[in-house]
Amino acid sequence: MSNLKGRIQEIYDQVVRRNPGEPEFHQAVKEVIETLGTVLEKHPEYVEQKIIERICEPERQIIFRVPWIDDKGEIHINRGFRVQFNSAIGPYKGGCRFHPSVYLGIIKFLGFEQLFKNSLTGLPIGGAKGGSDFDPKGRSNNEIMRFCQSFMNELYRYLGEHTDVPAGDIGVGGREIGYMFGQYKRLTNRYETGVFTGKGLTYGGSLARTEATGYGLIFFTHEMLATRKQSFDGKTCLVSGSGNVAIYTMEKVQKFGGKVVACSDSNGVIYDKKGIDLVTVKRLKEVERRRIRDYCEVHPDAEYREKGVIWEIPCDIALPCATQNELNGESAAKLIKNGCIAVAEGANMPTTPEGIKVFQDAGIMYAPGKASNAGGVATSALEMQQNASRDSWDFDFTEKKLHIIMKKIHASCFETADTYGCPGNYVIGANITGFRKVADTMIAMGLI
Ligand code: NDP
Repeated sequence: MSNLKGRIQEIYDQVVRRNPGEPEFHQAVKEVIETLGTVLEKHPEYVEQKIIERICEPERQIIFRVPWIDDKGEIHINRGFRVQFNSAIGPYKGGCRFHPSVYLGIIKFLGFEQLFKNSLTGLPIGGAKGGSDFDPKGRSNNEIMRFCQSFMNELYRYLGEHTDVPAGDIGVGGREIGYMFGQYKRLTNRYETGVFTGKGLTYGGSLARTEATGYGLIFFTHEMLATRKQSFDGKTCLVSGSGNVAIYTMEKVQKFGGKVVACSDSNGVIYDKKGIDLVTVKRLKEVERRRIRDYCEVHPDAEYREKGVIWEIPCDIALPCATQNELNGESAAKLIKNGCIAVAEGANMPTTPEGIKVFQDAGIMYAPGKASNAGGVATSALEMQQNASRDSWDFDFTEKKLHIIMKKIHASCFETADTYGCPGNYVIGANITGFRKVADTMIAMGLI
């Protein structure tokens, strides 16, 4: 085992050397490969076949110029990315993120996480991620459209329903997918619905896809709570962010009898002791695209904390749904001190390694995003199934399928953690389950 530990450290050192200046990617790799020691011990073929080394190197990385013109006629140049990480178990699949913080290291960390998450869903989808350092905030509809069209002018040549199927992520929702799909159709002269997911309902989208990541998170958390004879009923919850994942997380928490008292955006935190009013949040964020501080115009009793830290508010259950590394060791300690019993991630890698250690040392329930937020991509795969059969399913049917998938993901993470001697450790359960399917497939396919 000590030899294996040394080997894992060598692999990690090599990843850092070959991918300089990409701390988020290093963090994501470290978090996964550190948990694989016992699997490598049981399966020496993974070491002989250099599966980890291969998995850490994306199959293909595409970086391109995205020029576009704003409403005043000024030219802007952004950078576009698509990292096609691994296609062993299916076509590349993963969202696109438009945010000024995007650079290659962010896309690589997201693509790496995606590979394990997609494997966990049990569906035939490989891992990828894309995006741009374009900032959509404050841009008009026409500017967003011109940007999306220019982004697609390059990206289209790498996509296809059997090749690579993008979707949304931060800054990319139904509107952006519509503009990208429209441009793809023009460029290729193909009505290939299976090439994007998260589409509008009039051109091949799936009911329940918008809600899927948040709903799936709560289905998973419900299962996790049940392992300790707990439930959402009467629990106070915090949900960071107020975007797609956060909104439908809040909606499902409320349906399960919990009370969300706070949510946020990158400017500040809303604390509403009476419980967050979702109608207001949806109007502000989905319709009017405004800031969360404006919530107080409708609910003057609620408190707005500019630049506040949401995790300082006492809660039973914390649901980070905004962005990576938003919950550090200090915030984790504060949550524990305030009596938090469970943390489940809707965002990708929102908890820092120090934060995860605090949760694990305290013995509270902790669900890593690659397992608990997999409902989004799972429902994207259901959208692909509907497109392939030129069918469309109703909301309840699709939601039920999502529910079953999340239960299965929970069960497989829980059982794998047990099998490998770490009961209740969902990090180990998720990493090992996700890894093994990809590793076995790569071996079956020869040196790929
Ligand atoms: P949205 O763009 O809809 O919402 C993102 C939310 O997070 C906004 O409230 C945004 O605030 C906030 N946020 C973004 N960046 C920061 C930051 N640097 N600091 C503080 N707050 C920030 O994105 P999604 O809801 O789709 O995605 C949220 C998270 O969930 C991401 O980590 C994403 O990768 C993950 N995810 C999304 C899936 C999906 O189906 N959409 C699937 C699985 C995971 P502001 O408006 O101020 O920027």
